[in-house]
Amino acid sequence: MAGVKRIETDVAIIGSGGAGMAAGIEARDAGARAIAFEKRDELGGAAIISGGGCLIVGTPLQKKHGIEDTPDLAFDDWMRWGGPSADEVWARYYIEHSLHGLYFWAEGLGVKWVDMKPQEGNSVMRWTRAESNGLGLTTRLIDGFRARGGEIVDRTEITALKRANGRVTGFTGANAETGEEVDVTAKTVVVSSGGFNSNADMVREFKPELGNDRVMEGSGRGSTGDGHRLIRAVGGYLTHMDHIWFYVYATPDYRDPAQRRGLVFRQALGNIWVNQQGRRFHNEVLSGGNSASPALLAQTPRHAWAVFDTPMTANMEIADPYYRNGDTVARDKVEELLNNSPFIRKADTLEKLADLAGLEDKGAFLDAVKAYNKAFDDGLKVEPAFNKPLHASKKFDTPPYYAMQIFPLARKNFGGVKTDIRCRVLDRHFEPIEGLYAAGEVAGMAGGHINGRAGLEGTMLGPSIFSGRVAGGWAAQEAGFGDGFAGKPNRG
Ligand SMILES: Cc1cc2nc3c(=O)[nH]c(=O)nc-3n(C[C@H](O)[C@H](O)[C@H](O)COP(=O)(O)OP(=O)(O)OC[C@H]3O[C@@H](n4cnc5c(N)ncnc54)[C@H](O)[C@@H]3O)c2cc1C
Repeated sequence: MAGVKRIETDVAIIGSGGAGMAAGIEARDAGARAIAFEKRDELGGAAIISGGGCLIVGTPLQKKHGIEDTPDLAFDDWMRWGGPSADEVWARYYIEHSLHGLYFWAEGLGVKWVDMKPQEGNSVMRWTRAESNGLGLTTRLIDGFRARGGEIVDRTEITALKRANGRVTGFTGANAETGEEVDVTAKTVVVSSGGFNSNADMVREFKPELGNDRVMEGSGRGSTGDGHRLIRAVGGYLTHMDHIWFYVYATPDYRDPAQRRGLVFRQALGNIWVNQQGRRFHNEVLSGGNSASPALLAQTPRHAWAVFDTPMTANMEIADPYYRNGDTVARDKVEELLNNSPFIRKADTLEKLADLAGLEDKGAFLDAVKAYNKAFDDGLKVEPAFNKPLHASKKFDTPPYYAMQIFPLARKNFGGVKTDIRCRVLDRHFEPIEGLYAAGEVAGMAGGHINGRAGLEGTMLGPSIFSGRVAGGWAAQEAGFGDGFAGKPNRG
């Protein structure tokens, strides 16, 4: 029978993603012993599969491109986008520290910030990408933690927090392969277990309005809400849990036996979306969580069909390792998906495609495509129905045609465990639970709800890493090491 492995440390961390590794680095830099526990066999969580883009203000890259940006401008964009439920204090704290606390700090770990991309809701470009995306960024964090003597215990799922006299004193769990139990005693604990969007049941629990409509799991595979459960069990307060960020350019992964996971597709820029009635409902170029997602969620039923002709599929990418050979797209696998997924219809004529997709009003669908094609015949730059710019699109004129069924994909949690500005977990009286910290997506990226209802892109990974640093610094301080996280503001 497997035994119990007893481990003692100063700071014990749950999760090896962006927040966990940043917490570990900070704790080690303060002189504390730090061990991170990861339930999966691969490290890095959602962070390592992410786009690696962070919203950062006042960077050398912005200056190089002549972009004037200030914390005040970014804060205005942030609050306008996220609405009244964004946490102003945490938003300010992150924005004001993003340059020194993330950009330069990460450079010190070997991260290279390589380019920027315009993103919806920003008045200037500030979404800043790390070389090799989330893989490059998170690998540097993992290496940085280990280089400082930090230890990562993988394949070990933490299942309960230990408490004595109201204080969290460690946790217990087990090795997924051997069954060996671990019993960890720590002076302080940082929970950085990510979000819950790879647990569709939990998404439904906090979004009951989804009813029985299909919603796809779309975060890292370890993002199943474990940390929320652990913290709730010791009286931690969960907030804004219904703030879930959906994307819609995704179709079920038919290779997943449970068909719960979704596959995101990109680089099929010309496609149009029609609802089950066969009508377009949105400018497909605005594909973000604050534009396309509410538009799709307003349809009855809550799904749509992304329609392509053959050339539109030529550069299609599927954001999943199965559909890639390293850095290149595995075209044969994309073809395999197009030809085999039960969620994709293929036909030689648009009429037949409408029949195969069961569109309720075939005439409306054919009229929509006709109007779209006419915009090209008329030489328009923008089609009049939804003001979609046409430079990246084309006429529907080359069969076979495809209709891919798309459903809401839960991607990011903008609500979670409520913490104070030191990342101490708060109970329902907003008193800190001694010894317990939370950072990253389990805490709605930082503090509980830093973004509010909507996030400017790059406001998940950046705040997750930053709050990880804050949590690690203060967890070490409570454990008797260092002075806590100080940071250096962007200005002055
Ligand atoms: C495909 C994709 C692309 C993205 N791109 C971007 C982007 O470009 N910019 C951006 O801002 N955001 C992006 N995000 C969101 C961003 O990656 C996450 O918000 C961020 O990684 C959260 O960091 P984290 O450390 O809190 O959680 P994670 O990085 O998910 O790490 C949590 C870790 O905890 C582990 N864990 C969970 N439960 C347990 C347990 N019980 N015991 C032990 N370990 C456990 C998990 O397995 C996981 O490894 C993207 C997300 C996805 C899925």
